[in-house]
Amino acid sequence: MLNKKSVDDINVKGKKVLVRCDFNVPLKDGKITDENRLVAALPTIKKLIADGGKVILCSHLGKPKGEPKPEMSLAPVAARLSELLGQEVKFAADNNVVGENAKAAVAAMKDGDVVLLENTRYRVEETKNGEAFSKELASLCDVFVNDAFGTAHRAHCSNVGVTEFVDTCAVGYLMQKEIDFLGNAVNNPKRPFVAILGGAKVADKLNVISNLLEKCDTLIIGGGMAYTFLKAKGLEVGTSLVDDTKIDYCKEMMDKAEKLGKKLLLPIDTTIAKAFPDPIDAQIEVSVVKSDAIPADMMGLDIGTETAALYADAVKSAKTVVWNGPMGVFENPILAKGTIAVAKSLAETDATTIIGGGDSAAAVNQLGFGDKMTHISTGGGASLEFLEGKDLPGVVAAQDN
Ligand code: ATP
Repeated sequence: MLNKKSVDDINVKGKKVLVRCDFNVPLKDGKITDENRLVAALPTIKKLIADGGKVILCSHLGKPKGEPKPEMSLAPVAARLSELLGQEVKFAADNNVVGENAKAAVAAMKDGDVVLLENTRYRVEETKNGEAFSKELASLCDVFVNDAFGTAHRAHCSNVGVTEFVDTCAVGYLMQKEIDFLGNAVNNPKRPFVAILGGAKVADKLNVISNLLEKCDTLIIGGGMAYTFLKAKGLEVGTSLVDDTKIDYCKEMMDKAEKLGKKLLLPIDTTIAKAFPDPIDAQIEVSVVKSDAIPADMMGLDIGTETAALYADAVKSAKTVVWNGPMGVFENPILAKGTIAVAKSLAETDATTIIGGGDSAAAVNQLGFGDKMTHISTGGGASLEFLEGKDLPGVVAAQDN
């Protein structure tokens, strides 16, 4: 079990607390177009203010690649955070991030004050985890708190390097939640544990398939990746998306499932069309056929109705469900039925339901099922690495409780 020191386990009264947040928000003409990440960061920030800490926030935004780029400044974030918190968040404009301005702003802080540093990726050392910048960041604070899950799979100065030079390093509430659900629930699940994988390509999720097969009781495969499995079983898959270089891998996974006594569910029927919709949401004529009856000139673009019922049934008896990747080309309403059916089955179960970030998280939210899930991960790449069973540098760097 991962048991990290959290903001509930430390005393920050009168101390300078550097908090690594994920303020990587979309900006258009200097305006924040989606403030979910700011709202999500508030509980940790409010807790540290209430406890009398001097709260120094930092984050990256976009990819300025080691150069100050005004359009990627965190200044708009400071302005909006001030409104959301109902108190001033002083922006330490500083092209060096930890330069004279930042140092002066921190020196002037009183207990409960909040300062936001400039985009950490203005510094070229940030993504190289360079020691000098890590030390500069550490020199600003007494305590470090990491609440940025989206970058936890990377070792950068502001989430990993800095921890070498600070005595107390904890995680914030957001990180804690990701660790609880993606780390602990997957490694120590209430059973039956059903994992559902979809998305475009098998190749993108080789390690996820292999790791989850070991952990779960039932592995469900849908989306574009299912056709490589079907072909590996010797079926005709027409013009469906197939990765011929991964056929042997799929065979290996099917053997592994059998050896481990795990259920591996593949589509028993599939929704087919003549071609991939162009544009993606175009009207399209489809039919549903058994998986062993896909005509040579047709393409599978969603799971079929019987498969949707089969998968929903498997979810019904589960106690833990992890889902990553859509069941079909969900961007097209005609091909979204399989993804909707699975989302609905997750929404209706009492099981712990965990959505593994990225497109899947966006799909669940778009389809209106967001508030019915136990946990929707905020990190695409980081959540996949967790599901692969890897240690995340940003998580490892926080001290154990
Ligand atoms: P993330 O890891 O960010 O959550 P994801 O796993 O949800 O991503 P991807 O692996 O990027 O998703 O794949 C999603 C894409 O797969 C969607 O754009 C969808 O249209 C496409 N897709 C799903 N089923 C098929 C199919 N049968 N044929 C072709 N493309 C498909």
